[in-house]
Amino acid sequence: MRAFNSTFKAPTKPMARSAWKKRSNKRAATKSERQHMNAQSEAGCILCRFLGYDNTPAEIHHIRHGMGAGQRNSHLMTIPLCPEHHRGATGYHGLGRRAFERMYGTTELELFGMTQREAV
Ligand SMILES: [Zn+2]
Ligand SMILES: [Zn+2]
Repeated sequence: MRAFNSTFKAPTKPMARSAWKKRSNKRAATKSERQHMNAQSEAGCILCRFLGYDNTPAEIHHIRHGMGAGQRNSHLMTIPLCPEHHRGATGYHGLGRRAFERMYGTTELELFGMTQREAV
């Protein structure tokens, strides 16, 4: 345990301390956030709707815009994407954000905006 920390300088300033603390700040979704996510996934894939397809059962994608790697945005910053558009070869995680946005001519945040306008 000590050996593990041997090269790590213990934070002495309040700023360093809070930055350190953030790393373990992953929290579970609250009840209202879960309801929000349920409503989103029931609404169907936002990209399919954008492309003119019928509602497709969706899973939740967390938007990480402006967030450091490894951090997770609020559970309210989510968009519903079907498994293909989420994790598939033509999906967000399959293509990566830039290729995804180029391919569909829209951005994650625009899609998020659409879900907000239609929101429950
Ligand atoms: Zn889709
Ligand atoms: Zn995702």
